[in-house]
Amino acid sequence: MEDMEMTASPSPPNPSGEEAAKNGESAGEDADVEELPPVKGFIKTSLLDWDGHIVSTIYLPGCNFRCPFCHNSALVLSPGDMETIPWSEVSAYLMENGDFLDGVCVTGGEPTLHPTLPRLLRTIKDMGLMVKFDTNGTNPDKLKELMEEGLLDYIAMDIKAPLDERYMKAVGLSTDLEKIEESIRIIMEGNVDYEFRTTVVPGITGPREIEDIARHIEGARRYALQQFVPRNTMDPAMMDVAPYTPEEVRDMARTAGEYVREVRVRGLKDLHG
Ligand code: SF4
Repeated sequence: MEDMEMTASPSPPNPSGEEAAKNGESAGEDADVEELPPVKGFIKTSLLDWDGHIVSTIYLPGCNFRCPFCHNSALVLSPGDMETIPWSEVSAYLMENGDFLDGVCVTGGEPTLHPTLPRLLRTIKDMGLMVKFDTNGTNPDKLKELMEEGLLDYIAMDIKAPLDERYMKAVGLSTDLEKIEESIRIIMEGNVDYEFRTTVVPGITGPREIEDIARHIEGARRYALQQFVPRNTMDPAMMDVAPYTPEEVRDMARTAGEYVREVRVRGLKDLHG
């Protein structure tokens, strides 16, 4: 999912829950915090997590994948060691800054692992904010439920590799590819705006894999290629892997563009200036 370190942008001051409380009651304050998923990361203002939108980003813990190139290994492997950010703090900021925020990016980890996720999304929507939702596509039933309830305004689903044995290498374990397939279908046939996205990682996802994925999602509205950054990776050996050059990534994007309606490339500036 989103990289906590890389997506941060300068944040306005964070009001306390008490300050927000003075401004009156709202859906955010009414939420029973016991029934919301624990927030383990909160970026107050991000211009990078939803193209063209100003959002706050909420990180939820836990994931059912173990991608060797993941940058959020603490969130995935040992979220209990991370501080939980009180919902009162998050909601106070969202309420106070609702005028300039377009929405909230809810990411992980894998957010659908939390049974109380719908309640969190309802709480955000009740504040008048949009939801951009990140998922690894392993829970199509939950995804469909959220879409049908109108809780999602934009979906970004990772497709880690072509849907065959190469997927296992990309996610670090064996997974049910039919669920990934089903999520792709639900998203492409649904009425929520979306993108699919793949991190291009030498040795895991290269030109051949990107073409195979793009062919698989032929006609998709949007496909984003993300540059791999060899920093804080779940598998320490990945830190020795040199990323593709910008030209190599752009070549892959050109190929993908033969199959999908729009291709975006992200992250080239982080490494190459
Ligand atoms: S899907 Fe992979 S990259 Fe995303 S949080 Fe889980 S382990 Fe990390």
